[in-house]
Amino acid sequence: MYGKIKEHLQDQLSQIREAGLYKTERIITSAQDAVIRLNSGEEVLNFCANNYLGLSNHPELIKAAKSALDSHGFGMSSVRFICGTTDLHKVLEAKIAEFFGTEDSILYAACFDANGGLFEPLFQEEDAIISDSLNHASIIDGVRLSKARRFRYKNADMKDLELQLQAAQDSRFRIIVTDGVFSMDGNVAPLDEIVGLARKYNALVMVDECHSAGVVGDTGRGVTERFNVRGEVDIITGTLGKAFGGAIGGFTTGKKEIIELLRQRSRPYLFSNAIPPSVVGAGIRMFEMMTETKELQNRLHRNTDYFVTKIKEAGFDIKPTKSAICAVMLYDAKLSQEFAARLLNEGIYVIGFYYPVVPNGEARIRVQLSAAHHQQHLDQAVMAFTKVGKALGVLK
Ligand SMILES: *Cc1c(COP(=O)(O)O)cnc(C)c1O
Repeated sequence: MYGKIKEHLQDQLSQIREAGLYKTERIITSAQDAVIRLNSGEEVLNFCANNYLGLSNHPELIKAAKSALDSHGFGMSSVRFICGTTDLHKVLEAKIAEFFGTEDSILYAACFDANGGLFEPLFQEEDAIISDSLNHASIIDGVRLSKARRFRYKNADMKDLELQLQAAQDSRFRIIVTDGVFSMDGNVAPLDEIVGLARKYNALVMVDECHSAGVVGDTGRGVTERFNVRGEVDIITGTLGKAFGGAIGGFTTGKKEIIELLRQRSRPYLFSNAIPPSVVGAGIRMFEMMTETKELQNRLHRNTDYFVTKIKEAGFDIKPTKSAICAVMLYDAKLSQEFAARLLNEGIYVIGFYYPVVPNGEARIRVQLSAAHHQQHLDQAVMAFTKVGKALGVLK
């Protein structure tokens, strides 16, 4: 049976390899941190993790996870509505709502599931979903699963959004859907203008805060804080897998009827396991830490400002960033791969991105800053970029 499809799959795999799009996985033998050890034995500085607040290996979270393991065990062996809901799950859901200034929250195994299970229960044929062209794959998939009409607007382009809103005026309900921070450029969605247009055209607003929560805004509450529209966004989705500890878990938070209906109808919630107590316990501690101090946010913002200033001074061309993502533009795909490989030899671990992940001719190296970085790490990175930049003729 397997014979024919085996050849077909082998063909596909070789096509991926020939196109230079084959993804390999580097193997790490240490915990996630600013400095990581690879299986080659070498230690490198990590500038490609979503570990924005340096919480992935934080002793407080490890302690909280261990304590929840002791009190509530290893796994739930159930979806939430059968016997998978503990007191800890309820506390974490309340903490998430408190943090974002929303009414209620619902946990998922990942934000991919939160987005995947969001639209189908809420919107029907007579409704319209108006989505930013650079939204995350999970939003695209989630929108596909709903029967609503789909509209797309150019990335963060408010003129185009307005046109799409006008085109969708005859629908029963409309919702504008956007990432908070776009992961390849590090730009933020202009949420103040989006909320303004939503009011004008009577639309709901949904923001995916995966790359912005913990990062953007003075206290890390995300783009709603940055644009002073807390409480004015109907639905926020986010992850525990990036700034918030980096383990696993996603959530939707917002208006209480929406959350209540998701608990009844959202398929990834109804048909997939509850997240384990250790992850939930660490999540609770994490949100407590967020409210106790701004220290990690401050450190992240200082590190980002410092790196962006220094890399510009060195002569590199970067995308304007409003987040902890700094795209160092190289434009040429091959160059981006060569550049990243040489940086690794200099002990700097970053990834070069090129088409189709970013537009053709816009290859780049994406640097992700973290509160875990020390100034000396940032200096080392800028020095290595400069050295490789000169060697490859990017800098004069
Ligand atoms: C990472 C990411 C997700 C997926 O989050 P997981 O919890 O890892 O599934 C969804 N949306 C955006 C914008 C992301 O960056």
